[in-house]
Amino acid sequence: MDGRVRLLVNERSAPAVNESRHKREGREIPKTTIPNKSGKDLIVYRYRDALNFAHGAGLIGFDTALVPELCDVPGNHYVARAIAHFADGSSWSGIGDANPANVNRMVAAHAPRMAETRAKARALGDALNLDANFADEFGDGDKAEEAITFAVRATPPAQSAAVSCEGCGAAIKDSPNFSADKKADYSRRKYGKVLCYTCGKAAD
Ligand SMILES: [Zn+2]
Repeated sequence: MDGRVRLLVNERSAPAVNESRHKREGREIPKTTIPNKSGKDLIVYRYRDALNFAHGAGLIGFDTALVPELCDVPGNHYVARAIAHFADGSSWSGIGDANPANVNRMVAAHAPRMAETRAKARALGDALNLDANFADEFGDGDKAEEAITFAVRATPPAQSAAVSCEGCGAAIKDSPNFSADKKADYSRRKYGKVLCYTCGKAAD
């Protein structure tokens, strides 16, 4: 009888790994595009969407706590640790920090909460095996904590239909981070027509 109880406990402590949590193939986590100061838009996962997906992939809860030895209350600098627990028995930890220099002025008054949310976001990023960085690591100021995002690693832009310069006729080509379509749109906004880089410079 005693052995049987132990067996049940052992079964419960070694649940099957939940592949839907970490497998990238075939899963759908909504992505969104946010403008970036450099002019290159960032393709990102939002924290809220990653959290929503995590709930469907067995997220049980978080343990979070400020890390007192790394916090500077007078300086409004806070560091938090979060551990995300999943039904497959795995736990994932993350650290997040917030201070007036790395958060938007709007949320600077809520630095402890922001640090906690960033820590949770990091834990989720690892738990879900997101192919991503955080947009805030690119110095892209968060508008609010809901805007914490995971930037999807650069994938080559889709090949655009042929576009050519209305000045010299040269083909406008895709480059690694800027598709020909994007260049054409930019040129139309700036010059009112599609110009290649050389003709654009001449028109400046
Ligand atoms: Zn041209």
